[in-house]
Amino acid sequence: MRYCKYLSFEPAHPIPRYALVELRDDVLWAVAPMATPEEDLLHLLQTRSAPQQIPFYPTPLSELHLLTPVTPSKILCVGRNYRDHATELGNDIPKEPLLFLKPPSSLLAPGGTIVMPALSRRVDYEGELAIVIGKRCRNLGPHEDVRPYIRGYTLVNDVTARDIQKSDGQWTRGKGFDTFCPVGPIVSDEMDPATGDPVTLITLLNGEIKQQGSTADLIFSIPFLLRYITAAMTLEPGDLIPTGTPAGVGSLQPGDRIEVSIAGLGSLHNIVAAEH
Ligand code: ZN
Repeated sequence: MRYCKYLSFEPAHPIPRYALVELRDDVLWAVAPMATPEEDLLHLLQTRSAPQQIPFYPTPLSELHLLTPVTPSKILCVGRNYRDHATELGNDIPKEPLLFLKPPSSLLAPGGTIVMPALSRRVDYEGELAIVIGKRCRNLGPHEDVRPYIRGYTLVNDVTARDIQKSDGQWTRGKGFDTFCPVGPIVSDEMDPATGDPVTLITLLNGEIKQQGSTADLIFSIPFLLRYITAAMTLEPGDLIPTGTPAGVGSLQPGDRIEVSIAGLGSLHNIVAAEH
């Protein structure tokens, strides 16, 4: 199953809708309406009072006004989870996963504008594969299959104010500005990087390849991460877990176009602007 969330321009007023997505000749199409995921309570309220849905016509995703396809209660990130990225910034290989949170207020839709805060002099991109949780979980056992708790996967750009991350010590502010978590364009379970084949992530800056990494090179695997995280906290449906970025991070400038892609997940592209 693949799905997206988009803004449907209906006669009374625009309404967010969910749609099932299919790959047709290498192009992602929204092909049918989909029920609202349980965690998107605001959307449930909006659509309850909405008039009858207009007829649905299959549409390429590139022609839709896409919204963030997830509604996480938390965005739990993993730092330095690729050997080559840990060392490129002069850090040691971590002995345990390095976890940090981004606030849900940092979420940004596909195609949205990353705003470079005036407070920072260096804002970096970090292309990442992210897990989307599908079922509440806590204390996953060492031999328990993690796949039933994974709804699917999506793309995230873990945008980072590198100077503030360093000077603060704590990462909350440097990682947490509004627009610092572009996500999408779709959620898909038609891949299994947790226990099956690895996937390759590519980040393009203004059309030039800057990052290319395989999840085969993750220091901590997806099952290990889910066990480690749920030993501490409950994961809820819709929670988002970016799994770390490969080598090749670099800085963004106003006017840049940054794009993260994985075969089967489409391409997450955003533009960059300075704060006014
Ligand atoms: Zn990251």
